[in-house]
Amino acid sequence: MPPAIRALYQQLTDWRIENDHVERSATEANLQRLHWLAPGAAAWSLLQWLVFSVLLWQHDGPVGAESWPLGRWLIHLAEWPLALLITVLARRWRHLSRRWIGRALCSAAFGATVVLASLQAGVDQSVGQGIASYLLACVGASLALYQRPLKSGLMLGLGYALFFHLVGNVDAGAGALLPLRLQGLVGCVLAWTLSLLLWRQFSALAAQEERLARLTAELQHKQQELERLTRVDALTGVLNRATFAELTERELARARRQATMTTLLLLDLDHFKQVNDSWGHPCGDAVLKQVAALCSASLRSTDLVGRLGGEEFVVLLPGTSQEAGRRIAEKLRQRIEQNAVSFGQLRVRVTVSIGLASNPPQQNQNFEILYSEADKALYMAKEWGRNRVV
Ligand code: GH3
Ligand code: MG
Ligand code: MG
Repeated sequence: MPPAIRALYQQLTDWRIENDHVERSATEANLQRLHWLAPGAAAWSLLQWLVFSVLLWQHDGPVGAESWPLGRWLIHLAEWPLALLITVLARRWRHLSRRWIGRALCSAAFGATVVLASLQAGVDQSVGQGIASYLLACVGASLALYQRPLKSGLMLGLGYALFFHLVGNVDAGAGALLPLRLQGLVGCVLAWTLSLLLWRQFSALAAQEERLARLTAELQHKQQELERLTRVDALTGVLNRATFAELTERELARARRQATMTTLLLLDLDHFKQVNDSWGHPCGDAVLKQVAALCSASLRSTDLVGRLGGEEFVVLLPGTSQEAGRRIAEKLRQRIEQNAVSFGQLRVRVTVSIGLASNPPQQNQNFEILYSEADKALYMAKEWGRNRVV
């Protein structure tokens, strides 16, 4: 295949894919327009139908001369109820999920406009009227409704074939007929060119909008991720110190209002330096991650888990008395002791010392006070032999 033909084929394929892609939004825009345009067309056609009704009623000329008003009367008789029907259906199907129905309605509206305009042009020729209404209808339909280029070309072409045939029925002589048909052809081609240009513009815009929406969604996602990263500890995924302190203050304020007890646990891994020294820092990191995961998994979703730094973790237990907090701390201590951390071939066992501090509802403590109390308890736990809750 010659390169130019291949390039053209590729371009046409790209357009076809793009057309498939934007057809949904084009149908939505069309239905939105039909919502307003179809009633206008119905009203205008009804008015003309009434005028021709009066003309027919008053007519007392020679037999046969009434064929023009009768022809127009019949066309408008079909036209205004059709426009009304399209109005009703466009309003009803505007939000329909079955897209082909909306698409078919828009194509029907486009096709009906072109065909009725051709019929009208044929009828109008009997009284020497121009073909302005045919041209206007073709251009108007192309301006008002986005149609895929092939489809609009087909409908305009069929409309023109009808126009070509109908204007030939009138005895206007070959001299007048050819310019008429040529004018019609120019109008038809102009309408199709307009339709094509508008469709391309719409496609480009829709593609741009879609790209923009995708980029905005990506940006939002990244923003959320960034926000999350400022609140959590990067290694273990639990809350970082600042966020933990902030949320703890909030919990303490709520506990004061609701007169409930809050307990804080301070966890420090025992001889953690040895883990790093014996197995390396990556192994130490794996231990920290597992301890954080164990704490999070062992607690309620309303409890808070944070990493204060190094191998020191902190847990806030809202609505929890000192005794209940001690039971929870003991459970955590046992789980950490029993669950060896797998690191490659290694199975690393660690223990933890836990200092506990509780805030009775009457006391107006803050995070720093609770933390320093828990730290003192932790110090005792270390002093008394580690791997215990104090
Ligand atoms: P103790 O039982 O008295 O708490 O002894 P310890 O060895 O746990 O305490 P120490 O404070 O002497 O050591 C804490 C160690 O934690 C030292 C440091 O190398 C290590 N550490 C701190 N942060 C990290 C980290 O993010 N990753 C790793 N792998 N190690 C860390
Ligand atoms: Mg420490
Ligand atoms: Mg330690």
